[in-house]
Amino acid sequence: MLNIILFGPPGAGKGTQSQKLVEHYQLEHISTGDLLRSEMAAGTALGKQAQDYMQKGALVPDAVVIGMIESKLKAQTHAKGIIFDGFPRTLAQAQALDELLQAHGQKIACLLSLEVEEGELTKRILERGKTSGRIDDQNEELVKRRVQVYRNETEIVATHYEKQGKLERINGIGEIEEITQKLKTAIDKAAAKS
Ligand code: AMP
Repeated sequence: MLNIILFGPPGAGKGTQSQKLVEHYQLEHISTGDLLRSEMAAGTALGKQAQDYMQKGALVPDAVVIGMIESKLKAQTHAKGIIFDGFPRTLAQAQALDELLQAHGQKIACLLSLEVEEGELTKRILERGKTSGRIDDQNEELVKRRVQVYRNETEIVATHYEKQGKLERINGIGEIEEITQKLKTAIDKAAAKS
């Protein structure tokens, strides 16, 4: 299996690029943000648990997110591979993911980090908020808080995979197609190694 983490701050382009890569490589796409939003829309207990955190721009507790990923992975045993988008977001999530994959004889091939500076992120998310219907995309303070949470709690995940020799930094500014091309080159390189 080809398991890839598409990484980066909110607004870096993970969702957009995931769609392109999923099509090209025929992989499954697991976005914890999308999963949590569907749970919320369906009014499930999990959705209710997540709601307060999401509306504040805070991370949903690790146990909730890891439990959700665990059941998703059980359903994906026949996939060619998975693109993880918005997960892992903490060191505990990264360690849990490594262990879950290992239990299935699998591993992460690479973590691709989309690098975009903060001013551009805020601009992109507020623009997306005009059509996404997401409350957390519409308020500048909340957007800034999410970027701060990324710096404080999530960036360390890149270091975790760097230590495993799996980190690839990609400039996330430019034409969408040009960025997709850079991601494909990095994925092909990682796939050849693994
Ligand atoms: P996203 O769609 O990835 O920007 O995620 C939207 C919100 O969902 C985040 O601000 C968090 O509140 C929550 N969320 C998504 N993925 C995770 C995760 N892996 N760990 C904790 N919270 C998450």
